[in-house]
Amino acid sequence: MAKLSIEQLSKSFGSESIIKDLSLHVDEAEFVSILGPSGSGKSTLFHLIGGLYPPEKGDIYLDGQRITGKRGAISYMPQSPSLLPWRTILDNVLLGAEIAGKRDTETARVMMDKAGLGGYESAYPSQLSGGMKQRASFIRSLLSPQSLICLDEPFSALDEFTRLEMQKWLMSIWEHYKRSILFVTHNIEEALFLSDRIIVLSNKPAYVQREFKIPFKRPREESLMLTHEFLE
Ligand code: ADP
Ligand code: MG
Repeated sequence: MAKLSIEQLSKSFGSESIIKDLSLHVDEAEFVSILGPSGSGKSTLFHLIGGLYPPEKGDIYLDGQRITGKRGAISYMPQSPSLLPWRTILDNVLLGAEIAGKRDTETARVMMDKAGLGGYESAYPSQLSGGMKQRASFIRSLLSPQSLICLDEPFSALDEFTRLEMQKWLMSIWEHYKRSILFVTHNIEEALFLSDRIIVLSNKPAYVQREFKIPFKRPREESLMLTHEFLE
């Protein structure tokens, strides 16, 4: 059974059709990237998966259970980090875990260190740069216990060095915990490095235009390591 199945999903805003008859699936422990032009509906697709609003048509299933229009079934990192300004960074990264009753401060501290946010536990979002906020939002999605993580351009605000660090880290987390990942990016190289499969969406209204399976896992990881070592 697929981890995530999206069947014939359609969504409009007013008279404008944004997503039309879009179907896709993500397998257990699969890493799937979504590419597509700006404004094609990628973030809207994630809002639908996250249950922020319902579609007009179609259904979404997680582990065979219908989750259409339901919040909280997946871990979701929005395109713009939405940290709560009145909570510290530590309390922000723990938000998803806390809602799910799985608050683990120790792991959160380790992850913050790993993401270069050590020492910022009691800081507030206004004290962080854009890239730091993005990493805090990234950690929050990793600390949420759901088995599917949807990441909407998670590394777009990072410099090339930090981006490589985060890619490598995401890859090792994904290998270790075998969670399923749906990943939106504009960076084709990143998609090639990280994914098992790449889905290309059409321009608005969005539907699946093409799909590529990436056949070789090992060389891809090795090339990521090599690029990383090269830059060190
Ligand atoms: P992408 O993430 O692929 O860049 P989006 O999903 O953000 O694209 O947006 C797709 C289209 O839907 C855009 O034309 C955008 O203006 C429109 N759109 C997104 N959200 C809304 C909304 N809440 N109300 C009206 N139009 C919206
Ligand atoms: Mg978007």
